[in-house]
Amino acid sequence: MSQYTAPLDDIRFILDDVLDAQSQFARLGHAEVTPDVVDAVLEEAARFTGTVLAPLNAVGAAQGCRHDPATGEVTTPEGFKAAYRQFVEGGWPGLTADPKYGGQGLPHLLGLSVSEMINAANLAWGNFPLLSHGAVEALVQHGEDWQKEVFLPPLVEGRWTGTMCLTEPHCGTDLGLLRTRAEPNADGSYAITGTKIFITAGEHDFTGNIVHLVLAKLPDAPPGAKGISLFATPKFKVARDGSVGERNAVRCGSIEHKMGIKGSATCVMNFDGAQGWLVGEAHGGLKAMFTMMNSARLGVGLQGLGLSSRAYENALRYARERLQSRSLTGPKFPEKPADPIIVHPDVRRMLLSVKALTEGMRMMAMHAGYLLDDAAHARDPAVRERAETLVGFLTPISKACQTEWGIENTYNALQCFGGHGYIAEHGMEQLARDARITTLYEGTTGIQAMDLIGRKTASSRAAGLKLFLEDVEAFCSAHADDAELGADVATLRDRCREWTALTTDILGAAAGNPDELGAAAWDYLFYSGYVVVAYWWLRASAAARASSRPEAFKAAKRATARFYFDRILPRTLAHAAAIRAGAGPLMDLPADRFDA
Ligand SMILES: Cc1cc2nc3c(=O)[nH]c(=O)nc-3n(C[C@H](O)[C@H](O)[C@H](O)COP(=O)(O)OP(=O)(O)OC[C@H]3O[C@@H](n4cnc5c(N)ncnc54)[C@H](O)[C@@H]3O)c2cc1C
Repeated sequence: MSQYTAPLDDIRFILDDVLDAQSQFARLGHAEVTPDVVDAVLEEAARFTGTVLAPLNAVGAAQGCRHDPATGEVTTPEGFKAAYRQFVEGGWPGLTADPKYGGQGLPHLLGLSVSEMINAANLAWGNFPLLSHGAVEALVQHGEDWQKEVFLPPLVEGRWTGTMCLTEPHCGTDLGLLRTRAEPNADGSYAITGTKIFITAGEHDFTGNIVHLVLAKLPDAPPGAKGISLFATPKFKVARDGSVGERNAVRCGSIEHKMGIKGSATCVMNFDGAQGWLVGEAHGGLKAMFTMMNSARLGVGLQGLGLSSRAYENALRYARERLQSRSLTGPKFPEKPADPIIVHPDVRRMLLSVKALTEGMRMMAMHAGYLLDDAAHARDPAVRERAETLVGFLTPISKACQTEWGIENTYNALQCFGGHGYIAEHGMEQLARDARITTLYEGTTGIQAMDLIGRKTASSRAAGLKLFLEDVEAFCSAHADDAELGADVATLRDRCREWTALTTDILGAAAGNPDELGAAAWDYLFYSGYVVVAYWWLRASAAARASSRPEAFKAAKRATARFYFDRILPRTLAHAAAIRAGAGPLMDLPADRFDA
């Protein structure tokens, strides 16, 4: 079985030395979030995830969820429900939520670190509370006052959970195609009818009620995505006064049998005139949906990070224990029958790739948390607006890169085990299988790529990119003459210049041929991701030098930064070349010649 120990040293390094989180907490008026409080939260989260959730990971994979066709009820794997009870008793569901609704109001920066640990310990279990966050965000931002009063406290406290019901059999990415209908009832509610598929945590045995946030179309809906509305549709009916009534006409028809995350219930949900309440404006569902999706996209990005972290811990342990062959430069442990495999350059390539990408994306992810806190609490509206634009720009990069690298990392970590990685007993194959879903749900990588180059760049005159490059340049000018960092500063500046040039070229080409946008999108996304992480590795190098942490930790940070700049960042060269090749090589072959 794979182990999990939360990487608290690295999380603390990023909080204290890289992001200087305490200054931000003070600036945002979080006087109560002292270093002791931060330590207490991180240590308790590490204990809960390491001792309660992590041991249930393999149980979830072995047992999966069970669906009773007669009642529509779903039973979760052994121990999952009890773990959820402990999670609620510990106050974890409302860690970052508004105290007005029963939350603890702690910074998102801390909440993200706790989510990383949950995902690392047990991704399938973590999916049950995950979408409640999106539901809470949507209701906070778009719900009527009574809806906030009635739905938010139980969701925030974890007495109820939330779902996001978007997907239908014929409509996934293109939500404009959806067919679920909402007919007005006399009491101001709506009758929701239709079938949603792939609904995470659509049914389970954790809580008394489940609030489904359902996208549907009103009778007078304009065609396409502009005609979508959002409805809060609980499993048990909820009246305006908060009283919970009879069973609603929504039922789980079946659950899916999947490649991974077997402990997570992926449900077909049938709505048969179920009572739902309109959330936000009629036909304004797309806006509310983006509120839910942005929160969920950052959450899914953390799944890639969590899995990578656990995969690394186990691959490293194995590479130190497993004895095979001698080092090319002569025996390193002559008293043993062979050297541990960590002496071999190829094993080090895999380990360091996982380490550099994992620690790099942890900085990227925690920066997003930092920006969410600025966007929510900064006193200066200009700071709030800047943070909002920046986190919007970085969200598709975080979601897509963290999940794609999560797959790469779990595969590399599995490879370190040789054939033993393929055997279930070690738990590495579960991590690799679980990682596979993360690039698919909450918008595939291809869709994140289109979001980045389209909505977040072309449609906004590259506002987010410009803000990010301002931050990079501020750091680079401060360190350009630094004897130790100067060369990497020059490399990063080169890549940023190229990033800007590629952006201009793509947008220019797309003006003449829109396919150029789609043809460049995937490579542009990764180009962006590798440069973002290079910036964080440079900041980590500077922070490590100034840090009071042990020498060994600081030296490892500098060595990993070196590896990133020399062996990972050059991947941008291939992405740039692919972008420059343009749409021709992708579009010239007619669709009916693909089998020629
Ligand atoms: C385990 C699991 C859990 C899920 N949980 C939920 C949930 O809780 N709620 C929910 O509503 N949904 C959920 N989903 C659905 C998930 O979000 C969708 O599967 C996903 O958005 C893709 O939609 P699709 O499967 O219909 O693929 P399609 O939209 O049919 O896409 C097929 C392929 O075409 C590509 N593609 C499509 N359109 C474009 C385009 N315009 N440009 C470029 N490429 C394009 C896609 O990237 C993909 O590679 C879940 C799915 C799974 C498997």
